Amino acid sequence: MSLEKLHSRIAAISDLLCAVNLLTWDQRTMMPAGGAQARGRQIATLTRLARDDLASDATMELLERAETETDDALEQEGLRQIRHAAELHRRVPAAIVERRAALRAGSHQAWLAARAADDFSIFAPHLEQTIDAARDYADAIGWRQHRYDAMLSLFEPGETLASLRSLFADLKAGLTPLVERALERQGADPMPQASFDPTRQLELARTFAGLLGYDRNHGRLDPTVHPFEISFTRDDVRITTRTRANDIKPPLFGAMHEVGHALYEQNVDPAFTRGVFATDLVGLYAVGGTSFGAHESQSRLFENHVGRSRRFWELHLHHVQAAFPDAFGAMTPETFYAAVTRVARGTSRTEADELTYDFHVMLRVEMEAQLMSGELAAKHVPEAWRSALQAALGVTPKGDLDGALQDIHWSSGMIGSFCTYTIGNVMAAQLFAAAQRAEPGIAVGIERGDYAPLRVWLGQNIWCHGRSLSRDTLVRRATGRGLEVRDYLAHLAMRYG
Ligand code: ZN
Repeated sequence: MSLEKLHSRIAAISDLLCAVNLLTWDQRTMMPAGGAQARGRQIATLTRLARDDLASDATMELLERAETETDDALEQEGLRQIRHAAELHRRVPAAIVERRAALRAGSHQAWLAARAADDFSIFAPHLEQTIDAARDYADAIGWRQHRYDAMLSLFEPGETLASLRSLFADLKAGLTPLVERALERQGADPMPQASFDPTRQLELARTFAGLLGYDRNHGRLDPTVHPFEISFTRDDVRITTRTRANDIKPPLFGAMHEVGHALYEQNVDPAFTRGVFATDLVGLYAVGGTSFGAHESQSRLFENHVGRSRRFWELHLHHVQAAFPDAFGAMTPETFYAAVTRVARGTSRTEADELTYDFHVMLRVEMEAQLMSGELAAKHVPEAWRSALQAALGVTPKGDLDGALQDIHWSSGMIGSFCTYTIGNVMAAQLFAAAQRAEPGIAVGIERGDYAPLRVWLGQNIWCHGRSLSRDTLVRRATGRGLEVRDYLAHLAMRYG
């Protein structure tokens, strides 16, 4: 049967992409710096093989026959997704794919050099070319209202610049007064300034990952510079975290964030393993989560709704105190909670608090859209950045390093991904509220430090579906409504208002 042959073809593509993920994991955790060039080539080759196989005439022929062989709705959805991805790749000329890949290496080098010199102008010509190549790519895959929509569809299918602008307008209106109020009522930062042993920080991160239910029989936690989660099927889902000499927040909250991602991957329906519902065939990335925003909703849920709550620290501060008795021995959960919910008008996205984070995202989305449309030239990004941040949060970056050079995304050719962080925040709150309404045992569990009831609900309503349902369908089925900012603003008002 063609259907079976097609399944084994997709399974082989999924294997290739899982191997890419393993090479990537190694690259970002263990690989010596000297291995970078060879590794880059290996990843490029395997990704190209996966793409060529998917977009081949042989796959198209199998697909055509397979489409006549089944009435099963789930099978048909899988075939629809394979067709969508294969046709998309066939529309993009090889020259565009090669140009984007070639730009990436030089662009990353230029970004590093620009950062070293705190000078955006070194990076600007590379960004200009990256945007130019992204325009060609967008035109090849197709778009209706705005060129940027094509890029958004790679990360958050269904979302457009227009739908984002409407979501952002609601968000901005709700967030602005909350930031004011939070800043007015908070005192000095009570977090102790001390030097924390990195090995002990990592152990602590592993403790907290375990508390939330991360299965280390099917994963491991290692240190890295920019934390991430990555999977090679649901059976092996790795997470990473970073340590900081004088701050224990990054390893703790970083680990809890990545655990949210990992739980999603570890709990995709086993039947989907090596199949279309556990592989992003458009992005050529082995992942079981249905969109980047949906994925981010799970990390934010565990990091912020569970891990940044008062009750969580009443129950678990003793682990921190046992690891670092000198710094935290005398601290109360109340004080610790105040420290991890502090709000500040800062210039950094990754270090931003829960309340100001989305302003950094909105700024980048607007800037990317203007770059794509040509309203903004790459060389004018720093000044546009400064005035946008000043307008949004009332702060100005000191230089480019804490301004337009702070994110790695553009240097690696990624245009269109920033919105997924805010989608994740909004979706996390909506799901967390719906979960607690649907299952009273969740709140009872959280009160006792038992997160199993929450995991069961998320497992049944989100995780098990893998990529078989779109993000919008998942949200509607789980919460009864489309994505909206109401629960998110209510959560923030409760915590910071
Ligand atoms: Zn994340």
